[in-house]
Amino acid sequence: MNSVQQTMTSFDVMARRAEFPILQREVHGKPLVYLDNAATAQRPQCVIDAVENYYRMHNANVHRGVHTLSNESTDLYEGARETLRAHINAASVREIIFTRGTTESINLVAQSFGRSQIKAGDQILVSHMEHHSNIVPWQLLCEQTGAELVAIPIDEQGALDLAALDELLTERVKLLGLVHISNALGTINPVAEIIAKAKAMGITTLLDGAQALPHLNVDVQALGCDFYCLSGHKMYGPTGIGVLYGREALLDAMPPWQGGGEMIAEVSFEHTVYSELPAKFEAGTPNMAGAVGLGEAARYLQRVGLDQIAAYEHELLEYATQQLQEVKGLRIIGQAPNKASVIAFVIDGTHPHDLGTLIDLEGVAVRTGHHCAMPVTRFFKVPATARASFALYNTFDEVDRLVAAVHKAREMLL
Ligand code: PMP
Repeated sequence: MNSVQQTMTSFDVMARRAEFPILQREVHGKPLVYLDNAATAQRPQCVIDAVENYYRMHNANVHRGVHTLSNESTDLYEGARETLRAHINAASVREIIFTRGTTESINLVAQSFGRSQIKAGDQILVSHMEHHSNIVPWQLLCEQTGAELVAIPIDEQGALDLAALDELLTERVKLLGLVHISNALGTINPVAEIIAKAKAMGITTLLDGAQALPHLNVDVQALGCDFYCLSGHKMYGPTGIGVLYGREALLDAMPPWQGGGEMIAEVSFEHTVYSELPAKFEAGTPNMAGAVGLGEAARYLQRVGLDQIAAYEHELLEYATQQLQEVKGLRIIGQAPNKASVIAFVIDGTHPHDLGTLIDLEGVAVRTGHHCAMPVTRFFKVPATARASFALYNTFDEVDRLVAAVHKAREMLL
């Protein structure tokens, strides 16, 4: 343990660890060190309890019922919407659409806003560090409309090339879709500044916030974006639930994406009247328990305090970066000046998958692969990377366990 680092923060990590039951597990006879948080975080007991209590006490379909359970379920579901609104400082609950997660949120915008507003010859601008979920939905839209997808380059550190971005922001661009924090590199993009430029040119903006919510206070009004997408499972909430935030005027003008129950006010074979926001974009029975769990996850993050979390995770990042850099032949992929607690790395002469397998034998979970961001691995000319991503419950001791496992794996492989 690095006691100097340990005393730098007043963050009570042991109290936080006690809130996550899965951290008591062993893997291969060793205490689990879970460093795959960018893929999915673990859930605290309060989130598990909120979901369980929903099913145990309140489960019923929302909105249509007059009976008690249906009203309770509706109140919990709509209460979660208000919690998420406040959490990201949206102006109204009408701007909070529950989706399956970031992927579905982006597809919704592509198919509803995109198909109605984007035409042949228009450009959609994304970056070279996007997750596939902020690339492929736009490619589908381009096939449907004849628009063109353009990528902002990145540099060797894994930061956006801001000079190139300035040149690419032309009147042909109708939508800018940008990742807030890169899952493959850890880069925190200067999104407020970029959005201000795009906005001045009348370009609609979308942020992929999947990796931002567990690490940062996000204020959509301060950021000024038109759309913001997030996933519950990255921010200590359940899987299968997320949010699309959209500015009300834009969402109001957009056509529905999926049709079905919930999203209609009146249906006949001749004519259908759609519901008001947000129901217009929530066809079918929603993930009620998921929304309730997500609301609890947002409350949990507020209780712990995102500023404290960010400061603590930054110390972990700095310590882990420094320790890993001492491993012979290890190269960190993604060294932008402003980073979240994600470290992707390769070791000369070894394959990341072999590394990951050997590291797992020490009870340490890291992810290996392209992290759904193939343009990134291609840019850095590596087949894959190993990635350690830290959460609020990780410790300096666990960094030491990772580093020891990496040393051992390297010796075995070379
Ligand atoms: N964007 C980023 C930056 C991500 O890290 C992820 C998940 N790895 C996604 C989008 C997609 O999120 P989901 O799978 O929850 O829809």
